[in-house]
Amino acid sequence: MKKVWIEPGCISCGLCVFLAPEIFDITDSAYVKLDAPVAVCSQQIKQASQDCPVSVIKYLE
Ligand code: SF4
Repeated sequence: MKKVWIEPGCISCGLCVFLAPEIFDITDSAYVKLDAPVAVCSQQIKQASQDCPVSVIKYLE
């Protein structure tokens, strides 16, 4: 995986942080951490993208 990002519309449920804590963090809304190990966590990222209730987690393989 090359890149992951979060589009507008996050409802701050925290699920992505639970599923992929090395990649995502949350303040007012979720964001991708600086230097997130995207390449080695692709499975968790895909799971978070699939399970996000508002489908705002996007990625580029
Ligand atoms: S799973 Fe989706 S809605 Fe929930 S915190 Fe993450 S990006 Fe936001």
